[in-house]
Amino acid sequence: IAANEDIRRRIRTIPDFPKPGIQFRDITTLLLDGEGLSLTVERMLEQVEGPVDLVAGIEARGFVFAPALALALGAGVLLIRKDGKLPGATIAEDYALEYGTDRITIHADACAPGANVLLVDDLIATGGTARAAVRLLRKAGATVRQAAFVIDLPDLGGAAALRQDNISVTSLVA
Ligand code: 5GP
Repeated sequence: IAANEDIRRRIRTIPDFPKPGIQFRDITTLLLDGEGLSLTVERMLEQVEGPVDLVAGIEARGFVFAPALALALGAGVLLIRKDGKLPGATIAEDYALEYGTDRITIHADACAPGANVLLVDDLIATGGTARAAVRLLRKAGATVRQAAFVIDLPDLGGAAALRQDNISVTSLVA
């Protein structure tokens, strides 16, 4: 069987969500499957390079994988949240959407200068979200060298763009 076929077949594609023409990769079916979930975490761990002090998960589906990786790596979890959710003083980064912009935030004191941060999300498409996350973490003083995803949609160019930002990009399923 092809690499990670056992993971790929547990992810379903829902047509026309959230709007017509979008083929949404739905990982809820992967998460519902205990073996699928543990295979996913195991294989993401195999791809981790170098020391990791913090695993930064992007709201919301990055929050599923970040703690699983962090526990195995002996690292902490840093939550990258949508605007308006964090109670303390925050720093923010904006990124372009098809229509308008969105904003992600972290607590200003979330990471020590030079902390090695592994960025995690379920999927990279255009890379807009992940690239904003890298800018935000670097603004906070973090050292960010790797971003790990379950799914890469390479035709949308996000992984290539992230590599231009000096990030090693890993994924399990394309
Ligand atoms: P990007 O910013 O790379 O264009 O989009 C990636 C972000 O949108 C990620 O946070 C990801 O969770 C979400 N996303 C976009 N398309 C999909 C999809 O088809 N399936 C899932 N599960 N998430 C998606």
